[in-house]
Amino acid sequence: MSRSVLVTGGNRGIGLAIARAFAEAGDKVAITYRSGEPPAGFLAVKCDITDSEQVEQAYKEIEEKQGAVEVLVANAGVTRDQLLMRMSEEDFTSVLETNLTGTFRVVKRANRAMLRARKGRIVLISSVVGLMGAPGQANYAASKAGLVGFARSLARELGSRNITVNVVAPGFVDTDMTRVLSDEQRENIVKQVPLARYAQPEEIAASVRFLASDEAAYITGAVIPVDGGLGMGH
Ligand code: NDP
Repeated sequence: MSRSVLVTGGNRGIGLAIARAFAEAGDKVAITYRSGEPPAGFLAVKCDITDSEQVEQAYKEIEEKQGAVEVLVANAGVTRDQLLMRMSEEDFTSVLETNLTGTFRVVKRANRAMLRARKGRIVLISSVVGLMGAPGQANYAASKAGLVGFARSLARELGSRNITVNVVAPGFVDTDMTRVLSDEQRENIVKQVPLARYAQPEEIAASVRFLASDEAAYITGAVIPVDGGLGMGH
């Protein structure tokens, strides 16, 4: 059965791989993008998740063109790394504003129709860093850890309405976000990963698609690591 899926930040990186995985399975997929030319093959809606009005407009367009969102993947996220000593309040709040409050906005708007339909799937993209912490990423880690508490609260709130809320916590994935790291930083990371390599975006997408499938109907409030073993035990 073809469902109406929304992937925020589905124009590149992990989000694009997720969007492709759903489209290949026959779902109708909307993606958000902020600027430039979005990839073909999806319903691309312009939307900055830090702006409630743009979120509202995006949902209206999606509802009109492919129906109310039945599967939401809240993937959009940013980093603004800095050691605490040098981290400005703006470095901190802007990352929280996108990764945590932005996710709140898109989830809250999706929830309306899901409650009415008495079914829905919500998957949030967190990070191994939200569980383990990382020097220079206090803002990012706080935002990604926040997603876990957010998801688990919603899992309890919405479970009786047949809405599942889960978290995928990727490790290091080969995308624009990690391409800014130096070769030395990349080598140091790989040394700590039991599988001794970065993930490909498609490897994250597979878990997201599983959590949105019928096979995962009894999984909610879970944090699924897809991190090559990096975060074991966290
Ligand atoms: P990229 O930097 O490649 O892509 C980030 C995506 O988020 C882009 O589509 C971007 O849109 C979108 N985005 C950022 N800010 C906003 C905003 N305010 N409103 C709407 N969209 C926005 O990152 P990845 O693909 O690597 O990361 C995707 C998710 O996975 C993020 O949440 C990230 O934190 C998480 N993650 C990534 C890991 C990695 O190693 N790469 C590891 C663990 C988690 P635009 O093109 O307009 O900028």
